[in-house]
Amino acid sequence: MRREISVLVPTPAYSRLSGPLTYESEVDVPPGSLVRVPLGKRDTLGLVWPANAPSSTHPASNHALKAIHSVLHGIPPLSTHWLKLIEFAAGYYQRSTGEFAMACLPPSLRDLTMLQWERKLARRQPATPASQPTLQLPPLTPEQTQVLASLAQHPGPFLLHGNTGSGKTEVYLRRAAMVLEETPQAQVLLLVPEINLTPQLEARVRQRFAHLGDTAIVAMHSAMTPAQRLNSWLAAHLGTARIVLGTRLAVLASMPQLQLIVVDEEHDPSYKQQEGARYSARDLAVYRGQLEGAQVLLGSATPSLESWHHSREAVSGQAAPRYQRLSMPSRVGDSALPVLRRVDMNNQPRKTLISAPLLSAMRERLGRQEQVLVLLNRRGYAPVLHCGACGWKSECPHCSAFRVFHKGDRTLRCHHCSLTQAVPRACPACGNQDIAVLGHGTEKVEEVLAEMLADVKRSDGSPLRVARIDADSTRLKGELVKQLAQVHDGEVDVLVGTQMVAKGHDFRRVSLVAALNPDGALFSADFRAPERLFALLLQAAGRAGRDAQLGAAQACEMWVQTFHPTHPVFEFLKRHDFAGFAAQQLQERKQAGLPPFSFQALLRAEARSQAAAQDFLNAAKALGEARLPAQVTGLFVYPAVPMSMQRVANVERAQMLVESHSRKHLQQFLTAWQENLQALRAQHKAVLRWAIDVDPLAI
Ligand code: ADP
Ligand code: ZN
Ligand code: ZN
Repeated sequence: MRREISVLVPTPAYSRLSGPLTYESEVDVPPGSLVRVPLGKRDTLGLVWPANAPSSTHPASNHALKAIHSVLHGIPPLSTHWLKLIEFAAGYYQRSTGEFAMACLPPSLRDLTMLQWERKLARRQPATPASQPTLQLPPLTPEQTQVLASLAQHPGPFLLHGNTGSGKTEVYLRRAAMVLEETPQAQVLLLVPEINLTPQLEARVRQRFAHLGDTAIVAMHSAMTPAQRLNSWLAAHLGTARIVLGTRLAVLASMPQLQLIVVDEEHDPSYKQQEGARYSARDLAVYRGQLEGAQVLLGSATPSLESWHHSREAVSGQAAPRYQRLSMPSRVGDSALPVLRRVDMNNQPRKTLISAPLLSAMRERLGRQEQVLVLLNRRGYAPVLHCGACGWKSECPHCSAFRVFHKGDRTLRCHHCSLTQAVPRACPACGNQDIAVLGHGTEKVEEVLAEMLADVKRSDGSPLRVARIDADSTRLKGELVKQLAQVHDGEVDVLVGTQMVAKGHDFRRVSLVAALNPDGALFSADFRAPERLFALLLQAAGRAGRDAQLGAAQACEMWVQTFHPTHPVFEFLKRHDFAGFAAQQLQERKQAGLPPFSFQALLRAEARSQAAAQDFLNAAKALGEARLPAQVTGLFVYPAVPMSMQRVANVERAQMLVESHSRKHLQQFLTAWQENLQALRAQHKAVLRWAIDVDPLAI
């Protein structure tokens, strides 16, 4: 008997064909099965969708239904939970379900023919049998013991607020071991912001769980080859992988026996996807945990204010907090947290890059064979080249940004559109031979420090080594791992870097960390800037003094050079008082009606002219307000404005903020709006792209 089958196919992002299509089949094909179906003239991968989905569309209602070409055998259907997760995420982030589902499957799954597919499955390695764990583990600290007891007793979700070096990673690993031991099939998902930044962690996980066999742990991130990604995905889907260690995209991996999701450094902005479907892996992790009955553990030394707010103390008469908060305030081995030293740059000679007191503190540390970490959030040599004679500056012709001077290869580079040109010998506007640099980046700091410290020798008499880690120094594959290893091995004495060096590394001999110029973020228009700055500085400080023996000799230090030494951010930093900082910020946000006390979405548009982009947005505003769903109240649509990076690669960008006190009302509005926008866009031919960003991180 012929039956009708609903199948999701890769539909365009905001297509009207957002639901599944109907095909026919001779045999019954259960939901979640992967199939190959005809779509137009192509043969494409499809996902069988539950039949009662309301939006099933017939490709052409008065034509005969097309038949499914084939079913990908040998691969069990995706679980109902997974289909539900996809449906929720696509709906919440306002994307078509077909596009979203296909983006969650490994790309090469789409491209393999039936024959290649069968060969692939036949070649799969069998799971290696597990043996008994043999590692000798150190005794837990009292705080770790207490946290693990709570994890064993309560369902969660949890927010683990543990200081840098308090042993959070150890908690994740122990909890994972417990879950895997309790249930023979259980799977654990361990999410990290960027795997490449923490090669140590992957090694630590593999070593800890070596007894499960080497096929039991797989990585999942976007830097893997298509073949590797397919292998990891299959291992997770078939259950041979017991632990998946991955970046944000792994939150959407198929893991039929998922029992635990850990989100390490949960505050990290890289959990938010910034292109295509703009989902938050952290938020989806919480949803997924609830859906599948898996325990969710978010962890950070500097939690996002959203998560901090969701784990506030319960107040009777108010809604119960969503997360249970667990705390580990002490560092393992009682190594002390660094002492904050502020240099008031108002009292320093003009154009000081490294102040005298900071330099002498560095010398002292280096003289004791300790390491120094210098943080500056700007790569390149200098952010601008400038002609004193005519006022020319190294603007990018295609972007509203300056091209950055890179001394290493003597180029001017735009960090937004990648335009790269040789540095001009003379001013391109007036011919003046004497063009100067304005400001400084990591490359310059590296050069200046090497000069300033040229007379300091290592214990064996050899010169000091100053190194730099940023996106430029690590462009080549494998370079970052190599450079980090050199720091760990003590080959590097002074490490200069961008925020890349502040994240998660367990540098043992660093005893002084310096932030050279953090002031920019203090007065930014972005309401999240103080939160990010505080997290960055506290995390950077956390790289110092991780070796208790080092700390005992002399307290380690965090230096900040600032023109605003009495700014509250630094007062809280001095006391390592995350809770105090968070309370103050949340108070301000509450008064201003900002997240987490309100809910936001952005509508963005790109066009060749700013007017065209804004016209579309303002028309969208009028349309949205005119067709406001009846139940939606207290929703505010702001006028369109240029984005702060207004022009990139000759494309003008504009955005519009939508805000509501209710997540539900915002969702209802967006869903209705999105459908109207598809039609509206057809009238605005000059618009190149548009997108909705729900819960945006930067406004
Ligand atoms: P965090 O993730 O909170 O920064 P880690 O889990 O990386 O902290 O722990 C910091 C250091 O302390 C690591 O080198 C780790 O091996 C070590 N460590 C963690 N827990 C213990 C323990 N119970 N006993 C001894 N050392 C520990
Ligand atoms: Zn000039
Ligand atoms: Zn550019």
